[in-house]
Amino acid sequence: MMRAMLTLDVEDWEHANYGQLKGCGGEIASEVRRKAYRMDANIDKWLEILADHDACSTAFVLGEFAEKYPEAVKRLARAGHEIATHGQTHDLIYEMSRETFREFLKKGIGTLGNLLGKTPVGFRAPSWSVDERTPWLCEELAAQGIKYDSSLFPVRTPLFGRKNAPLRLSWDAGVLRIPATVMDFGGFRVPFASGAFFRIMPLPVILYGLERASKNGQPVMIILHPRELDPAHPRLPLSGWERMVHYARLGTTIPKLCAVLENYNWRSIELVCAPILDSGAKPSDN
Ligand SMILES: [Zn+2]
Repeated sequence: MMRAMLTLDVEDWEHANYGQLKGCGGEIASEVRRKAYRMDANIDKWLEILADHDACSTAFVLGEFAEKYPEAVKRLARAGHEIATHGQTHDLIYEMSRETFREFLKKGIGTLGNLLGKTPVGFRAPSWSVDERTPWLCEELAAQGIKYDSSLFPVRTPLFGRKNAPLRLSWDAGVLRIPATVMDFGGFRVPFASGAFFRIMPLPVILYGLERASKNGQPVMIILHPRELDPAHPRLPLSGWERMVHYARLGTTIPKLCAVLENYNWRSIELVCAPILDSGAKPSDN
């Protein structure tokens, strides 16, 4: 069976970067305290579902999450999942200076290193927030020992993504770049394998997209969040399309996840990409 990469961006329900949430920090923080929702229950759900399917994942853990739920992160690591970093806080990198990013990354790596005694080698930006405004990204990652980056989203959306980003593996400053999996129809790109796109797309489309990506030499990767495993998690003060996108079809996540787990051999990025990372072989760009 083909090897594919299963990933979870490990963060809480309040971690989102919509324009509507700007200036709502105080209100959201008091809701977080009032609701006292336990996101770690969804980590255990993830562990259980994956164990049932003999699958293993990469968890891109937010430093703030690891500080709030250290035991859940240890459980992930103990079960053999790769622990990579999602940064310290869920802030947009394209709004940071290079120096601010350096500190943000150092804190994110440090939080996980102190907790697990092992330094992460993989990185994914909050909300895929790397683009032409962050040309220094991979140099900064390499300087702190990061070997691969999975922050490229090769479709432009209102919040993130680059429409001409590579669809296949590429290298930048010695860092392997693993883009999100999207369907490519001669330059017309359709996302289907991550977060809201995974929830909104019907299962046959997801299975077709994975098959198509695999045949096309693209990485085959699924990207989910703990909150998407519980349709009843607390709601952010969003309205309009942002509310629709953030909460669409949450009830379909687990059934669709179980269905895709039946296909492919789902492993962590570290395991799937080990031959490339170890050999330093240069995959051709597209
Ligand atoms: Zn995130």
